[in-house]
Amino acid sequence: MKFPSIPTASTHLEEVNASVTHNVILPEDLSKISTASNQIADSLLSSTVIQKVLDYLPSMVGYWDKDLKNCFVNKAYGLWFGVDVSQIVGQYIWELLGEDLYRQNLPYIQAALKGEFQAFERIIPNQDASQSRHSLTHYIPDFRNGEVQGFFVLSTDISAIKEAEAVLRQSEARFRSLVQDQTEVISRLRADGTYIFVNDVYCRFFGKTEAEMIGSTWKPVVYPEDLQQVQDELAMMSRSNPVVMIENRVLSASGEVHWMQFSNRGIFDADGQLIEIQSVGRDISDRKRAEEEIQNLAYKDSLTGLSNRRYLLDRLQIALATSARSMQYGALLFLDLDKFKVINDTQGHSDGDLLLIEVANRINACVREVDTVARQGGDEFVVLVERLGTNLEEASRMAAKIAENIRVELAEPYQINQINIHSSSSIGVSVFCGHDKSVEELIKRADMAMYQAKDGGRNRVRFFDPEMQKLVEVRALLESDLHIALKAEQFELHYQLQVDHENQPIGAEALIRWVHPQRGMISPAHFIPVAEESALILSIGDWVLDEACRQIAVWSAHEKMSNLVLAVNISAQQFKQAHFVEQVVSAIRKHGIDPTRLKLELTESVALDDIADVIAKKNLLRQEVGVTLSLDDFGTGFSSLSYLKRLPLDQIKIDQSFVRDITTDKSDAVMVKTIIDMAQNFSLNVIAEGVETEAQLAFLKQHECKAYQGYLFSKPLPIEQFDVLMKHYGCATDITKLV
Ligand code: C2E
Ligand code: MG
Ligand code: MG
Repeated sequence: MKFPSIPTASTHLEEVNASVTHNVILPEDLSKISTASNQIADSLLSSTVIQKVLDYLPSMVGYWDKDLKNCFVNKAYGLWFGVDVSQIVGQYIWELLGEDLYRQNLPYIQAALKGEFQAFERIIPNQDASQSRHSLTHYIPDFRNGEVQGFFVLSTDISAIKEAEAVLRQSEARFRSLVQDQTEVISRLRADGTYIFVNDVYCRFFGKTEAEMIGSTWKPVVYPEDLQQVQDELAMMSRSNPVVMIENRVLSASGEVHWMQFSNRGIFDADGQLIEIQSVGRDISDRKRAEEEIQNLAYKDSLTGLSNRRYLLDRLQIALATSARSMQYGALLFLDLDKFKVINDTQGHSDGDLLLIEVANRINACVREVDTVARQGGDEFVVLVERLGTNLEEASRMAAKIAENIRVELAEPYQINQINIHSSSSIGVSVFCGHDKSVEELIKRADMAMYQAKDGGRNRVRFFDPEMQKLVEVRALLESDLHIALKAEQFELHYQLQVDHENQPIGAEALIRWVHPQRGMISPAHFIPVAEESALILSIGDWVLDEACRQIAVWSAHEKMSNLVLAVNISAQQFKQAHFVEQVVSAIRKHGIDPTRLKLELTESVALDDIADVIAKKNLLRQEVGVTLSLDDFGTGFSSLSYLKRLPLDQIKIDQSFVRDITTDKSDAVMVKTIIDMAQNFSLNVIAEGVETEAQLAFLKQHECKAYQGYLFSKPLPIEQFDVLMKHYGCATDITKLV
């Protein structure tokens, strides 16, 4: 076995060695060898080295002369054909290949002998056809002296590559069929955000061809407002956090905005560099719409479209946290429409609703986009104003300006169904900064300020101030003390005489007193409003009713007292209870009293709140027992003639504020006169409270008011003193001298 002509130049050898280390001998290497062989044909040393190298090559290397007789093959040749190398050398090519293979290769052989370089692939079975391999064969013509002397054969087994290619092709086909059959939009992107692959759904969704998408970036696809968010979230992708879920809006082929959820998986190289992003996105527009609807239901007021109380509480919590970070002031505005109830009742509820909607619009127009306007319920609105700067004075000034703007706007006339309606609002403002106050505390403060605005005459703005704060604390203390008072039986009833126009006692009003162990006697004007804010008033009311009935029972045994009618004050909460009538009836039965001796005093606000309820309860009371109803503090509310006509009352009680000035203030005098006339028209009894002077009494008598209550006759007295008063009553000529 002799290699035709062998190079010795070390440079050429090095080049060849370099390439064989890669286990593949390239055609150009062979030409180099051939060139080298021309130069130094007889170098035996080199020939041995090269032969060794070639024997270690997995590729088959051989040389056939122009008669197609073999001059050289390496070991791989012999191995494949299952014969010793020495048997091949000197053989004709057709003897080695066999007839079939020779015929197949003949065109290449002939071309090579014509001096043309040949490369072809062939699947060749081995000698016993037990295996086959995929080979890549090169025929390299050997030119010497301007003629082809033969050709080199280099045949490399590329079966593994071919197999890998087939597997890859199958896997690619499987991947394609998988991703194309999906309803999701699937894409692959380079790290720079340009597409490498998009599926059919993707193309259809965005109205682009695959060719248009490949190479372009994802940015034009995303809804412009969400671009930054997507960029920020993608930037969070890392090798330790390769999957990033992003929900954002996109623009579909038809230009519609869709909500999509993308699951993006980053593929990283060994150095941790992002090389590819695989993205699967699905349309979640329906889910988003449903979520929005639920959100609206949960957080919006259905009438006005404003936020509701729940949303406001959430916002307020966030606003406090934000303010704590930025140290910027904010303000909470509480608004209540003045006299809305009257408008609602006189104009009808649908007009009332229209008014509320218009109010909501006007408030919205007065505030900035960042501010929150909510409807608390009924005619109460709340505005949360944020970012008022870091200076308290400046912030307060700005809050005042906003509140004043709203007040002025809401005081403008309203056109509701062609009717001009006038309304106004009372606004309470509480300024906050950071977490120094809790949400509940802030709401309480704004609410209190609002009540101050109301007390101050309505249609005005009031700020919460520290004085008010003290009041809040006292109130809180009072409330906890009231619980103790109930258990410790610290309450007692005082009785204030009521007389007729002949100064004869006709009854009394039961007025509660709290005998506090440390603070002494506490007026109901002080603690009843506090009790009314909680369920405490119900327990107190129960006690008063029971105690009053017990007293009527005691009186019934005394001749002078048995005809007295005892009036009991009933609070709103107490009256609104579904079982109120049963409560009264059971107290009457418990003490076995004559029900006509009991009179219930309701205030205007209770009576007007739900007229139908008052009628129903009064009917029950009348049928069952015959208890009478008196309307307390008449004239201070918004009662009008039409209400009086509908309400099932027995008596109205002229408020002491009118009585006080009847002799000095003309308009009060007119008012009292009108009330008396009106009551007579409706066949109602009238009683005047707060009668302190003879002059007041004379005026009332003159105008046909026939019942009175006031200091002129007696102050409210503890039962023992009241009994004494009654005992001496009739002995003295002037009862006013008795107390
Ligand atoms: P009211 O029902 O209007 O009671 C009349 C108030 O006027 C009483 O005040 C009485 O002491 C006072 N008064 C009577 N005559 C005169 C007078 O000539 N001059 C002046 N300046 N005042 C007079 P009081 O006892 O402090 O009660 C205040 C309010 O507390 C009552 O007003 C009533 O609304 C409420 N209240 C009292 N007791 C009860 C009760 O048992 N239950 C409920 N729910 N409220 C009660
Ligand atoms: Mg009263
Ligand atoms: Mg009164």
